[in-house]
Amino acid sequence: MTFKELGLLPQILKALEGCGYKFPTPIQEKAIPQVLACKDVMGLAQTGTGKTAAFALPLLQRLTKGPRGRVRVLVIAPTRELAEQTHDAFGTLGRHIDFRSAAVYGGVGIVPQIQKLRKGSEVIVACPGRLLDHIARGTVDLRGVEALVLDEADRMFDMGFLPDIRKIMKSLPAQRQTLLFSATMPADIMKLAQEILKDPVTVQIDHQAPAETISHALYPVEHHFKTTLLMELLSRTKTESVLVFTRTKHRAKKLAEQIAMAGHKAASLQGNLSQNKRQAALDGFRSGSFKILVATDIAARGIDVSRISHVINYDMPDSSDAYTHRIGRTGRACRTGKAYTFVTPEDAAMVAAIDRLLGRKTERCALQGLEYTVPEIGMVSPAQASRRGPSRGYAAGAARRNGNRQPQLRRRAMPRG
Ligand code: AMP
Repeated sequence: MTFKELGLLPQILKALEGCGYKFPTPIQEKAIPQVLACKDVMGLAQTGTGKTAAFALPLLQRLTKGPRGRVRVLVIAPTRELAEQTHDAFGTLGRHIDFRSAAVYGGVGIVPQIQKLRKGSEVIVACPGRLLDHIARGTVDLRGVEALVLDEADRMFDMGFLPDIRKIMKSLPAQRQTLLFSATMPADIMKLAQEILKDPVTVQIDHQAPAETISHALYPVEHHFKTTLLMELLSRTKTESVLVFTRTKHRAKKLAEQIAMAGHKAASLQGNLSQNKRQAALDGFRSGSFKILVATDIAARGIDVSRISHVINYDMPDSSDAYTHRIGRTGRACRTGKAYTFVTPEDAAMVAAIDRLLGRKTERCALQGLEYTVPEIGMVSPAQASRRGPSRGYAAGAARRNGNRQPQLRRRAMPRG
């Protein structure tokens, strides 16, 4: 199937050529004809599948005809990074179409946004909170919206945005096309979909599809040894860009500093950064001047860097949905990627969830030549795990003897645990 066969216009095909997209991805193949036919769509696909172009291309095609100077397409996204990237995608894919797009999100001054909105945009890509601000101030008019896209709906739910979305819905015309994209379909999203989609077509990308280009490995490790293991992995592995996930903002910052001290080009992306610093970290990661980015889940939403070869879960994600989202950052658009997850005995329940998600027992790995305790993962019930408390065993003992410093590396082959 080619983009032309999907029914896209020459000016869009020209932009696609400029982007180097040769063939549509599976979600594009399935969704584009439906969106062009003005159907409501429920798209079950995660980031990395090409879902942005799956809705942006047919919606841009709609903008080649009809009125100008009023908001006709509204995309709602959970984070400013995703909003900014989607706004950029509209700009790139629609470079031969006469339209204007505005990104609307909080954390930056509202006045320039008001000025931009006043000039008239046909597309708005917005985060819910700031959009509600504009609605309350009367600085945006959504009465002419023909198509609404809710992107990463499950993440918006996780972030508590569903009430805001319901409020925004009241400012939109009832007669419109609605597209809802989500990596997963928890009950609350299903309920929202039933409320807002009319006779939708479901477009689903097989859950296993991205996993085919991504290999998954678990690294059992005691908690205090994670940094040593990470440094060793980074120095031994051939990588392009690497995204490391931590659970807390503080740890992301500290770990990025430690990685930089070890001689790697690294930055952190976490909620405590100002908008300028976040942008600098993202731009540096995208351009390759930072090879390693240490991020928290929320800060990393929507990172669109095609060269990410490795996602390393320094801390276990807190749900299998979060795992899906994190690993969706690598192996994008049919490139191969690797997902390494550090697991401590406390993570036993999540290990079982990942095995279930992948439909097999995920490979357990140990770094050869690095002497450390490899805890048995999957042998401990979650209840036992929570009773166990902080790590025990050889390495913990060594750490205690060392006054809790990282134990010295002993370069000696060690059998796998
Ligand atoms: P998304 O799932 O929308 O975040 O897109 C993932 C990545 O795939 C982005 O870097 C896109 O630029 C890229 N992409 C989207 N569609 C295609 C395509 N048909 N061919 C090649 N790359 C694509």
